[in-house]
Amino acid sequence: DPVTHPDTAPASDALLARARSVIPGGVNSPVRAFRSVGGTPRFMERAQGPWLWDADGRRYLDLVCSWGPMILGHAHPEVRAAVTEAAAQGFSFGMPTAREVALAEEIVARVEPVEQVRLVSSGTEATMSAIRLARGFTGRSVVVKFAGCYHGHVDALLASAGSGVATFGLPDSPGVPASAAGETVVLPYNDVPALEAAFAERGSEIAAVITEAAAGNMGVVPPAPGFTEALRRLTRAHGALLVSDEVMTGFRCSASGWLGLEGVPEGGAPDLFTFGKVMGGGFPAAAFGGRADVMARLAPDGPVYQAGTLSGNPVASAAGLATLQRCTDEVYQRLDEVSEALAAAVTDAFSRHGIPHRIQWAGSMFSVFFREGQVTGYEDAKDQDTALFGRFFHAMLRRGVHLPPSCFESWFVSAAHDDEAVEHAVRAIGQSAAEIA
Ligand code: PMP
Repeated sequence: DPVTHPDTAPASDALLARARSVIPGGVNSPVRAFRSVGGTPRFMERAQGPWLWDADGRRYLDLVCSWGPMILGHAHPEVRAAVTEAAAQGFSFGMPTAREVALAEEIVARVEPVEQVRLVSSGTEATMSAIRLARGFTGRSVVVKFAGCYHGHVDALLASAGSGVATFGLPDSPGVPASAAGETVVLPYNDVPALEAAFAERGSEIAAVITEAAAGNMGVVPPAPGFTEALRRLTRAHGALLVSDEVMTGFRCSASGWLGLEGVPEGGAPDLFTFGKVMGGGFPAAAFGGRADVMARLAPDGPVYQAGTLSGNPVASAAGLATLQRCTDEVYQRLDEVSEALAAAVTDAFSRHGIPHRIQWAGSMFSVFFREGQVTGYEDAKDQDTALFGRFFHAMLRRGVHLPPSCFESWFVSAAHDDEAVEHAVRAIGQSAAEIA
C-alpha cells in the first residue's frame, strides 16, 4: 500500500505562513483552508488534464475540478488556444464585444426557457442580481430559500446556507443586517407542506423562491419527485418568480443543465436561471437570465440597476465559449462513466469494511455521505460522521487523490479523467477505506 504523499508539505506550509500574514486565514475562499479536515491546504502550481501538481512537486488526481468549472480537465489545449487568441487582442475594453454575444447566444441556445442573459463575473453576482430583478419586477421584498442550499455570499441568501457555511457549522453570518435576513424565509428542502404553509402565510409578500436546481452544496440532494412542480405551482399561484440556481448543475448535469435531465416542470419553466462555473471554463464568468419580459426590466432598458466593469470580459467569454462548444455527448458520457466507476469503488470498499455510506446523484454529480439512509435535506446531511470523512480525506490525499475538503460537497470529475486516472482513484479508495475502517 504505497503512501506516496507524506502528511507534511514543506513548500505549502511555507506559503501558508506567508499567506496568513497578508490574507485572512491564508486563503481567498474559506473552504480551501482545510479547517474541517485539518492539515495544510496544498498550494498548487500547475495542472493538466485530471492532474494537479503542488508546490512540493507532488502530483494529485483532482476530484475538485475547481469546484465544478473544469469539465474538460485542466488546460485543455483548444480552450487554451482560444484564451491565448483572445488575450492577444486585449484583455478588457469596457465596451461590447462579439465574444460576449457568442457566449450569450450559446447559453440561450442550450437552455430553451432562457430568452436573454446578462453576463456577470461570479455566481454570487448572478444570484444577487436575479434576486434584485425579481424584487424589482414584482415590487415585493421577501425571498424564500432552502436550508442547505448555497447561492453565494449574498446577504439575503446566507441564512442556513450550504457549502462553507455548512462545513464550518456557522450560524447566520455577522455583518448581514437583521433587515436583510428578515426578508428571507428559510424552508426545509424537498418539503412541499412547509412551502404551502409559507405561501399561505406570506404569499402576497414573496418576490421569489430561489432553489438549487438540484442541491449540491449540502452534498448532492436532488429534488424529490414533484418538488420542482410544487415550486412552479405555488410561485405562479401567488405571483412570485421561480429562480433556478444552476451555477453548479448548469452545463454539467447535461448540455442544458439539470433542466435537461428533469425536463420543464408541469406548469412551466422557472422564470429566471443563474449560471456560473462551467460557462466560464475556469475564468470569472457567470450569468443570470430567463423570461424576456422580466429581463427587460434591467438597466439600460428598465429601471432595475445592475452593471460590471469586467462583465462579459473577452478572455473569460472566449474560455467559456470554447468550453461549452466542446461539451459534446461524448463528454457527458465520459463524466457518467468516470463518476459511476468511482461511486462503485466507494460502494464496494465501504461495504467490504463496514463503513456507513450513502451515495446520491444529480446527473454525473455525486457525493458520499458518511451515514446510512436517504438524505432529503440539510438536517439529514448534517447527521453524518464528519470526523470519519476527515480521516478518509487525508487517507486519499496521502495516496495522491485530492477530494473536496468537506463532506458537504459534490465530487467533480472531468472528461479528461482517463482510465489511468480512474484506476488511480479506485486503488486509493480501496486502500483508504481499509485504513479508516
Ligand atoms: N450558486 C451555487 C449553486 C453554487 O454552487 C455557487 C458556488 N459554489 C454559487 C452560487 C456562488 O458562485 P461563486 O462562488 O462563483 O460566487
